[in-house]
Amino acid sequence: MPTTSKRHIALVAHDNMKPELLRWADYNRSTLSQHHLYGTGTTGTMLEYELGVRVHRFLSGPVGGDQQIGARIAEGALDLLIFFWDPLEAQPHDPDVKALLRIGAVWNIPMACNVASADMIISSPLLTNGYMHRRPDLTPREWDRTAAA
Ligand code: PGA
Repeated sequence: MPTTSKRHIALVAHDNMKPELLRWADYNRSTLSQHHLYGTGTTGTMLEYELGVRVHRFLSGPVGGDQQIGARIAEGALDLLIFFWDPLEAQPHDPDVKALLRIGAVWNIPMACNVASADMIISSPLLTNGYMHRRPDLTPREWDRTAAA
C-alpha cells in the first residue's frame, strides 16, 4: 500500500470495553497493520502486545491521553477514531471523553464507538482510495477579526 493510503488511526477503549476492542483489532489485524496506529496508554500497550505491531502511545486516558488525541485531531494529524467508550459506567474523566467526541465531530473525522460501526469503517473502500474528509472552516470568526483590528 502506498504511504499516502496509510491512515492515522487512533484507538481507545474504556476498561470494560477493552476485551471487545482487542477482539475486534485481532480480527482486523491485517488491515490495521497497514496503517499508522495510535492509542491511549493502556489501550495502546494492549494492542501492541496483541497485534504485534507498533502503536504510538499517548498518556493513559484519565491522565490526559484523550486530550492528547483530541489535540492531534485538531492538528489534522489523525484520520480516524475507534473509541469504544463505556455506555454503562461513569468515567472519572467524562469531560475529556466528551471533549474528544466533540472535537472529532467538529473535525468531521470518521468515528466508531462500537463494533458494528468499526466494522463498517474498516471495510469501507473509502479507507484506502484517497478519500479526504471535509475539514471545518478555519477562517477566524467575526469577533476574532474585530478584536484583532
Ligand atoms: P487507557 O485510556 O487506554 O489508558 O485505559 C482509555 C480511556 O479511559 O480513555
